[in-house]
Amino acid sequence: MSKLRAIPSVDQLLQTPVLLECSRSFGRPLTVRAVRETLAAIRASGEDHAGVVDPAQIASRAAGLLNRWLESTLRPVINATGVILHTNLGRAPLSEEAKQAMAQVAGGYSTLEYDLERGRRGSRGIHVEEQLRLLTGAEATLVVNNNAAAVLLILSALAYRKRVVISRSQLVEIGGGFRVPDVMKQSGARLVEVGTTNRVHLSDYEIVLQEPAAMLLWAHHSNFQIVGFTSEPELSELAALAKRNQMWMIDDLGSGALLDTARYGLAHEPTVQEALAAGADLVCFSGDKLLGGPQAGIIVGRADLIRRISRHPLARAVRADKLCLAALTATLAHYLKDEVETKIPVWRMMAETPEQIQARAGRWASTLQIGEVTAGCSTIGGGSLPGETLPTYLLALKVKRPNNFLERLRQNNPAIIARIEEEQVVFDPRTVAESEESALLAGIQRALQ
Ligand SMILES: *Cc1c(COP(=O)(O)O)cnc(C)c1O
Repeated sequence: MSKLRAIPSVDQLLQTPVLLECSRSFGRPLTVRAVRETLAAIRASGEDHAGVVDPAQIASRAAGLLNRWLESTLRPVINATGVILHTNLGRAPLSEEAKQAMAQVAGGYSTLEYDLERGRRGSRGIHVEEQLRLLTGAEATLVVNNNAAAVLLILSALAYRKRVVISRSQLVEIGGGFRVPDVMKQSGARLVEVGTTNRVHLSDYEIVLQEPAAMLLWAHHSNFQIVGFTSEPELSELAALAKRNQMWMIDDLGSGALLDTARYGLAHEPTVQEALAAGADLVCFSGDKLLGGPQAGIIVGRADLIRRISRHPLARAVRADKLCLAALTATLAHYLKDEVETKIPVWRMMAETPEQIQARAGRWASTLQIGEVTAGCSTIGGGSLPGETLPTYLLALKVKRPNNFLERLRQNNPAIIARIEEEQVVFDPRTVAESEESALLAGIQRALQ
């Protein structure tokens, strides 16, 4: 054998048992590509000079690359963090009915924009209109891709190059880079700030309104709280002021609860119905926060304004798709049928009592024969009810190196996301569905070994 061993050829590598198998499973062209990229990486790193030329080793690297390419990076995880609307973990899980509704329209054709009665083009706007009217009393509705798009669309359609008045206490960044002032700028609206960060009075608005403006915008504080020496006018006072000045009052409600969160011992999150009753001309909110449905931005309110917004070119660019509308219809049906607490996962999680959770954590501890059950807190997340917590019980495990243990849990299939509290790894049953329990416990057991 010569001293300078040659790097094997692509053809040679394709004859190795590992890559023959890959060719059969994934096709030859993709396998060839993986081999080429692997060889290029070896040459680029100079590993071939260091003697990494063993065909079996290179083949297994190429196979690893192929598996990475074909494995989805969007995978289910078990959320044991106790954060109900975990934005990084996909916010609201859907109800069974919403999942089925999506599956039903996903694989075939549907009446998305087709009027069966007349046999001609229909409107995608009608699918949730009636339900939202029944639930909120709103005259009209428009569903778009998400609430950020809803805010941008409303401002673009109604306030382009016009003044929009907003309190300094509401110029917030919601997370993921959604900053109210930046969105306003993007829409072409002219931002007019009133008041101070912690205190805004009706008189501050009155002074600014000596010059005409198109709109008063009210934005939910979302994920932060202003505490201490604070004041903000009531929404109804501002709506009345807007009306007197012939301006629109728009409420970006953020989470958009349809039910009272106070019934679970949480603070009261303003509801869509209340915002409309207070006199907001339009209210917009997310579909996948406290509503418990799919990602969507829902705009409800005056029919004439909804019509104007719908005709704006941006409306076409941010419209909701059929899967979203299917899931949203099914989710809203739970509200109409008064079965939210049993059917919609986020409300079921909020409604679960500490005693029920304690019993579940206790069963986990006895199955695992390790760990103890301790009192703790679940949170809502998703920019709703900042600082508010729900009492819960946690399964707490003392392990040698908690961070390593969390990493092993993340490597499980399905990945398990837990957290560390007082140097123990803790699991909150509140955000774990009963159907996930056996996978969770098996994953914990594997990580313990
Ligand atoms: C969450 C939130 C948004 C953005 O909604 P998405 O549906 O995430 O786009 C906008 N405004 C407020 C007040 C929010 O809380």
